[in-house]
Amino acid sequence: MSRLAAKSPVLAAGTPTALSSLPGIGPRVAEKLAARGLLSVPDLWLHLPLRYEDRTRLTPIRELVAGQSAQVEGVVEAVERGFRYRPMLRVAIADDSQQTLVLRFIHFRNTQVAQFQPGTRVRAFGQVRFGNNGPEMVHPSYRVLAAQAEPTLSDQLDPVYSVIDGIGATALARWIAEALRLLPPAEKLELLPAEVLTRLRLPSLRDALLLVHRPPPDADTAALAQGVHPAQRRLALEELLAHHLSLRRQRVALQRLGAQPVMPAKRLPQALRESLPFALTGAQQRVLSEVVADLARPQPMLRLVQGDVGSGKTVVAALAALHALEAGRQVALMAPTELLAEQHLNTLRDWLQPLGVHVAWLAGKVTGKARQQVVASIADGSAQLVVGTHALMQEHVVFADLALCIIDEQHRFGVHQRLALRDKGREGSRVPHQLVMTATPIPRTLAMTAYADLDISVIDELPPGRSPVQTVAISGERRAEVIERIRVACAHGRQAYWVCTLIDDSDEVIAQAAQSTYEQLCLQLPELRIGLVHGRLKASQKQALMAAFKAGELHLLVATTVIEVGVDVPNASLMLIDNAERLGLAQLHQLRGRVGRGAAASSCVLLYQPPLSALARERIAVMRATTDGFAIAEKDLQLRGPGELLGTRQTGLAQFRLADLARDADLLPEVHRLADAMLADSPALADRLVARWVGSAERFAGA
Ligand code: ADP
Ligand code: MG
Repeated sequence: MSRLAAKSPVLAAGTPTALSSLPGIGPRVAEKLAARGLLSVPDLWLHLPLRYEDRTRLTPIRELVAGQSAQVEGVVEAVERGFRYRPMLRVAIADDSQQTLVLRFIHFRNTQVAQFQPGTRVRAFGQVRFGNNGPEMVHPSYRVLAAQAEPTLSDQLDPVYSVIDGIGATALARWIAEALRLLPPAEKLELLPAEVLTRLRLPSLRDALLLVHRPPPDADTAALAQGVHPAQRRLALEELLAHHLSLRRQRVALQRLGAQPVMPAKRLPQALRESLPFALTGAQQRVLSEVVADLARPQPMLRLVQGDVGSGKTVVAALAALHALEAGRQVALMAPTELLAEQHLNTLRDWLQPLGVHVAWLAGKVTGKARQQVVASIADGSAQLVVGTHALMQEHVVFADLALCIIDEQHRFGVHQRLALRDKGREGSRVPHQLVMTATPIPRTLAMTAYADLDISVIDELPPGRSPVQTVAISGERRAEVIERIRVACAHGRQAYWVCTLIDDSDEVIAQAAQSTYEQLCLQLPELRIGLVHGRLKASQKQALMAAFKAGELHLLVATTVIEVGVDVPNASLMLIDNAERLGLAQLHQLRGRVGRGAAASSCVLLYQPPLSALARERIAVMRATTDGFAIAEKDLQLRGPGELLGTRQTGLAQFRLADLARDADLLPEVHRLADAMLADSPALADRLVARWVGSAERFAGA
């Protein structure tokens, strides 16, 4: 086997693999392709179409459906060039179905304007949406047709590839076609057992690749468009398997690193439990003992604790920390926002300082002398438990003896950030134990795939005495009623949140909207003390407001979604979410979790602007039907897909080429079975599969 081929395990021996072996690819182009991870011919095989465009037929304008892409042919009726906010070209075309379609261009050249003389025949392809004047396409691709000639329709779906900087779409498609000519025979390429392919009725890798890149005229276009064609399922299966194997391999690599065991301690954990006003739930006990057992091993713990909002993860983390602290070692706790980190700081100081533990604080706003002091105390080990934000990962922060890293709301952090903190405690080949906590429930099969490198514990029980939050949906037309409801609730000593949401995600715009809601509510509810928190406030202001709310000095807290994570005010029992239709299920669930934390019966009002889209209606129905985070997560996965659920990009999972964890969820049990068998029987095959799909882009490079 040549050296090149050995590097590219996908290939049969002797086949040239360098991209420069393809006509037209010189060093400059190769560099641009390499920037996107396309280094060899096999990489081009796996540069799969993002979607397809169906130019095999024409759709009458009358039959256009919003959101779908279609090809339309018509005659130009009118052209309008305008400047509203920016230059705009609108071309109205009509077909025999007696309807008009507007083609809208924001970027255009004068020569383009000249093309659209009234009476000209145009064929356009694009996504349909419905504007004020009926159907329109924004920036469709189009062709001006000769007056008489009857142009032919394409007889196969056109693959659309993701754009690569500096590379034309046509050239890319041509190189992919060239690369496909170098595909070795099916049996040389195949890594999956024939038995599995037969059982699942899936084609060989070779056939699957050829089909998805160049769907033949008789291919099932509907299935291809939805990503459920057997050829796509075949590729998804292999891709999911490769990622899963890669995580499992990283897990093995981590185990090899080793860690210093933390033996179960007696005194401090006992003392904390005695000082708490509550006993641990059964689920907390169980999870804690799983963690304590992990800590005592000479391999690094990497455990994810999942627990719905309010399930009491913090106390489990605190008790775990005490085992390390009693051994005289250090613990770091990192949270994604300053608000959340600060809340942990307060809780942990309340709990641990009476036990003589020095709890230090490090966040971005700790500066100057104070910062130097904290950093020094972390370095000399006198800071025992260090609570903070991303600031903990900065280079000049050096721990004397870090035994355990605890990371809250881990989906908010990137994997690399987690590793950066872990490496703070690296000593030769030994690394600290890691405990990561999340309130984002993830369905089990998905977790097994997404977090195959982690052990998972679930706190599946809420502390006693919580009554489920009653949820109602109320149209914005009845806003006055809702405000009345707040007045009454607060008159009875309850506290309430009013959460403002906006599509625009700029802090500034949201802050303004929250500000004006706040001013209105102050006018309408003059007898209430009302506070306002949003992302633009200084952390100290936020903290002061939260403290006042917690102390009962404020009745109503108007807030943006900054309060989404981790805020804990048990007396607050009414949550109002304005424009609830704009939020996804996971976020609604997190927000609602801010109430129902005390003994009082709580309620959540989803105030929405009609008319509701079908999706929004469904989300609201789910919220009303259940408070179970796992049920909501399952539904969310169906409605929205896993990228969002897991925190897009942050898990590295959204970066599949073709697989879709929601759509292909039924393949996951097969993926797990195959992975077990492959790791047991043919680890070399597993390596080739990982190299083929995941290559150098491993999520945990260096783990
Ligand atoms: P989360 O899992 O959302 O981070 P927290 O750790 O903030 O939840 O706990 C939520 C609230 O429940 C806190 O006020 C905490 O003190 C309280 N709590 C935790 N465990 C118990 C328990 N076993 N019994 C009663 N209250 C508890
Ligand atoms: Mg929490």
